[in-house]
Amino acid sequence: MAATILDGKALAIKCKERVRKAAKTLSRRPGLAVIIVGDDPASRVYVNSKRRDGEECGFYSEEYALPDTTRQDELISLVESLNARADIDGILVQLPLPGGLDEEAVLMAISPEKDVDGFHPLNMGALLIGKEGFVPCTPAGIMEILEEYGIDPKGKRCVVIGRSNIVGKPMALLLLQKHGTVTVCHSRTTDLAQVCREADILVAAVGKVNLVTADMVKPGAVVIDVAMNRDESGNLCGDVAYDEVAEIASAITPVPGGVGPMTRALLMENTLKAAQKHLGVD
Ligand code: NAP
Repeated sequence: MAATILDGKALAIKCKERVRKAAKTLSRRPGLAVIIVGDDPASRVYVNSKRRDGEECGFYSEEYALPDTTRQDELISLVESLNARADIDGILVQLPLPGGLDEEAVLMAISPEKDVDGFHPLNMGALLIGKEGFVPCTPAGIMEILEEYGIDPKGKRCVVIGRSNIVGKPMALLLLQKHGTVTVCHSRTTDLAQVCREADILVAAVGKVNLVTADMVKPGAVVIDVAMNRDESGNLCGDVAYDEVAEIASAITPVPGGVGPMTRALLMENTLKAAQKHLGVD
């Protein structure tokens, strides 16, 4: 039986429409500031799409495109000035930063209430202990996909491949919060295939083309492909050998059109949430 395609693109359109409607009811437009340093072409594409998403949702947005010669103290003082602005609810620093800039220090400088990416240690800590805070957009978007398609992690064996702070770890915590039994794999995991075969829900967040093949997937499993890679022909693809895995999985996210659009939609949701908090609206 062919797998259900988990259509993140369609769901993202619905989410953004919900955000747009809610934003219209506020006394002012939610404000999002995006900072990009240097001229990495992929980062430029991401920033452009975030700006477009913001426009679609009726947000006020500001973009700061800084040269790669920008000093750490200059970047931090820009963040601090945005922290102090009443009309800016969310601040996003596009990663990766050029070498020589300390990403951790820059992320730490963002006020946790404006940290719509959810990367500040205070928000990460809130997630760990199950308190309210901003959740990183990619894993939060995946949880919305699961919910939309009625896939409940409760009691399921969940395997997350990848343990980065922005995807793998928060993904594991969110699945755990929903009562999944979670295993996290990484580059030192022995017999990755064997561990993956136990998964009812398998999330691949590595960045390696064809890492997950059909023999690593339990028949009927739900497969979430987070990665954004380029294949030999330069086409966008994930970690999962899509065609063969789609034949045995019960549901699968495509790349593109799966997790990516929901990551962007969640940034809009987080910015709306920040604005609602700043304006004292629940
Ligand atoms: P990352 O920081 O490079 O982390 C990759 C993880 O994969 C690490 O934990 C690494 O293990 C693990 N790994 C590497 N080789 C492995 C192997 N052979 N077997 C098992 N695990 C292995 O990457 P990331 O930022 O989490 O991103 C992961 C992928 O998702 C990338 O392709 C990225 O472009 C994509 N992404 C997509 C979105 C989206 O919106 N769709 C958002 C964010 C990221 P160690 O910890 O041991 O090194």
